[in-house]
Amino acid sequence: MKSLLVFPFQWYPTQPYLSTPYLTSYLQSKGWDVVQRDFNILSYDIFLSRPFLEKVVSKGRRKIDFLRDKSSLTEVEKALLQVLSVGNQYSGTIISRVDEAKKVMRDPELFFKFNIYQEAHTIIQSALKLISDAYFPSMLSFLTYRSGSGAEESSRKAQAVVSDEEANPFIELYENFLLGSERWEDYGIVGISIIGTSQIIPGLTLARILKKRYPHLFIVLGGPIFSVIAEKLKKWPEFFELFCNAIITFEGEEPLDQLLTTIKSGSSLEEVPNLIYKINGQVQVSERKATIRFNEIPPPTFDGLPVDLYLSPYPVLPVLQSRGCYWGKCTFCTHSYIYGQRYSLHKSSPMVDQLESFSKKYKTKYFTFSDEAVSPHALNDLSDQIIKRDLDFSGLVMLRFEKKMDAELFRKMKKAGFDFLLYGLESANNRILSLMEKGNSGELARDVLRISREAGIWNHLFLFFGFPTETWEEAMETVEFLKENRENIHSLAPGVFTLNKDSVIYNHPEKFSITRFIDPPDMDISTHLSFEISKGMSVKSAEEASNLCVEQISRLFSSNNIWGGMPREHFLLYLDHYGMEALNKNDSIQ
Ligand code: SF4
Repeated sequence: MKSLLVFPFQWYPTQPYLSTPYLTSYLQSKGWDVVQRDFNILSYDIFLSRPFLEKVVSKGRRKIDFLRDKSSLTEVEKALLQVLSVGNQYSGTIISRVDEAKKVMRDPELFFKFNIYQEAHTIIQSALKLISDAYFPSMLSFLTYRSGSGAEESSRKAQAVVSDEEANPFIELYENFLLGSERWEDYGIVGISIIGTSQIIPGLTLARILKKRYPHLFIVLGGPIFSVIAEKLKKWPEFFELFCNAIITFEGEEPLDQLLTTIKSGSSLEEVPNLIYKINGQVQVSERKATIRFNEIPPPTFDGLPVDLYLSPYPVLPVLQSRGCYWGKCTFCTHSYIYGQRYSLHKSSPMVDQLESFSKKYKTKYFTFSDEAVSPHALNDLSDQIIKRDLDFSGLVMLRFEKKMDAELFRKMKKAGFDFLLYGLESANNRILSLMEKGNSGELARDVLRISREAGIWNHLFLFFGFPTETWEEAMETVEFLKENRENIHSLAPGVFTLNKDSVIYNHPEKFSITRFIDPPDMDISTHLSFEISKGMSVKSAEEASNLCVEQISRLFSSNNIWGGMPREHFLLYLDHYGMEALNKNDSIQ
């Protein structure tokens, strides 16, 4: 019995994602015949191709004719007619240059000529905009996909959108371009990995078509999104008629292995841990929980993935040292929840074995650590190992501010090749940091950023405004922090707070002055929700603070035009190519 694991659109087209590589590797180690496909990059490659875009342009023209024939237009229709007409005007240029644009993204010389890179990026974004407008209100880009109708948050809308040929570009993509590349009759089981909101509609559309066309397939869905909406799924039996035979929540390796064993032997699905399935018209949740830890799982495999197809001149491979978070306390975060409150990590020596082996196999030195936060202790050990083995390595990693971080650690990390560090600052106000249970302070962040920059490392910050009870003055304290520490901060991404279901805040709203959750029925599969609060800024003020911060950034950071629109994997390559100083000053980058 052969199995296929699929990673659907949409994720960044710059590198593979790690879900199917881990599942494939684990299942193969158990003797199963399993292969994986990255439908994300295959979809991007088809979307950004002449045959698909020509169909899109014809569809756009039909829409223009339809709108022009209408006796009156709403404001939305007028705006749509306008963008379709502009798109139609430039469609010839976009289509004739789209192959060249993809080539630039994969070419080791052209990629680093910033003007050429920017033009290629614009052509790619314009091609995706043509698709978005023809399939209005869909929105596709280099960095995300949205249905535009809120269908990824609503079971009712999701059910409608997966069959809506007018608004859903994935029906055309799968039926006329992508599905023909597989011999589906050869498979018994298809697993679809949906790790984020942007994959819900593409992933469910795929599941619906496969379920209808190939009834012999056992379709199983998995990914963190299902762990969060599990309660809803228990009350949604139609989901299992429309899309799949079963759903795996939390970590999938052991449950998938057990599922294959159960299907092969014909025994009961209740034996499979972390499984939601339907039997006799009722949704059942297996009581067993997976017990295997991350450090018992073999390294991922990228075999079966089209490594040369990603939009990058060199492979930039993701690696993962840990699942869960070693800190695990931040009150807004659900990272620990989606790993069942478990934290497990691989030792540094086998991690560096992985880096060494992938480096040789794929002829690359570029790696991105996908961990939410790597500890100073692990970073120290990893750096020691990389230096000792003289491994040519350049990588990025996410981390939190820690007292244990000193100049020696950062010098060692820089020597090893950790060129690009991404920190979760969130806020520089100590009252807010304490309410977040970040376990650090504005002063600590300032000191760590300084010694990290002195070691020659690029410091990127994530932050957001509007944490429950945050005042405008406290938000401005964060903006001031950015200005005062400009020398030690190289890039940043401000945003607005979103309240995640299953976070500490969600479970203890009273501690955060939240008086009411607003959870409309048409957001029943949303992973976040709105709220009312008795203290602090409104959402509108938080948006204003974020906009003000963005405005300051464009004045303070001359390199904003480089990193501001680039996926982080591309920026890692630019950093290695040009160096921190040149990029920071936006000097000699053409
Ligand atoms: S925000 Fe980051 S450091 Fe805090 S618990 Fe979540 S993953 Fe860990």
